[in-house]
Amino acid sequence: MDPKTPASRVKVEEKLFQNRYLVDAGRPHITVRPHDTPSRALRSLVHACPAGCYAENEKGQVEITADGCMECGTCRVVTAKTGEIEWNYPRGGFGVLYKFG
Ligand code: SF4
Repeated sequence: MDPKTPASRVKVEEKLFQNRYLVDAGRPHITVRPHDTPSRALRSLVHACPAGCYAENEKGQVEITADGCMECGTCRVVTAKTGEIEWNYPRGGFGVLYKFG
């Protein structure tokens, strides 16, 4: 099949839906340090995180719900200079379970 035909294209969202995630309840592997005003870097994660884990609350602070995190490391790199997040891999057996690569 021609890889350029619409029927052969698979959306990223459809591929991501194949993954599974095992939540380590009460032990998030990424946390946002307390802050009043987020840096531009931290705020950018609301749009940059491919899993949509970051959100801005009504006070303008950035929060994370690490469930569904794909461990891509984007947030770790983006905030490396500001130090606004604490990033660790999930404990063994928890976190994302990739399917099909
Ligand atoms: S590691 Fe990637 S997927 Fe996980 S929270 Fe950070 S940016 Fe999102």
